This record gives sequence, structure tokens and C-alpha cells, in this order.
Amino acid sequence: MGMNIKMETVSDIARKRFNVACRCGRCGHKAVVDGLKLARWFHYHMWSSHIDEIARRVRCSKCRAKVPDVTITTALPSNPKWMDSESKWKDLHRRLRG
Ligand SMILES: [Zn+2]
Repeated sequence: MGMNIKMETVSDIARKRFNVACRCGRCGHKAVVDGLKLARWFHYHMWSSHIDEIARRVRCSKCRAKVPDVTITTALPSNPKWMDSESKWKDLHRRLRG
């Protein structure tokens, strides 16, 4: 589903409750990432929140390529178990700040 809503940052996507669809430019694998979790993930990593940063940071879970087509979507997240508990966030925080 294509959308022409102006969004500059990962936080904009999260605030509007959109998700992010990624399609691997190498193997074609598709995934939909939860926008709220993605914004939190970026924040924890202290990455730039700019929307262009998504294509630079997201890696294909199948072939590990870093060349996704990124689109904003209302489709549901394809892996709801990803970062689905506070303990996972706590672990991530510990790993990054350790
Ligand atoms: Zn791939």
C-alpha cells in the first residue's frame, strides 16, 4: 500500500502508528517491521532518526544483505515476537551500554 504522507523520521512513523515494509533488494525477502519498536530500536542505538537511515540500518533476515526497499505501510508486523517484552529491551540496553 503506497502512501504519500510526509514523514521525516522514524518517530513520525511511530507516532502515526505506521509500520515499515522492507523488501530485500538481493533475495526479495519481505518483512514488515513494527514502527513503534523500530523507533525505540533506533533510539536505543542512538542512530539518526531520519527516514533515510532505515535503508542503511535494516538488514535482510534471510541473506543479511543491506539493500532493502523501504516503504511505510499499515500492514501488520510480520514478526510480532521481535522485541516483544521489556526484558528484551533491557538486554539490548545492557548489551549496547555494557
Ligand atoms: Zn535478502
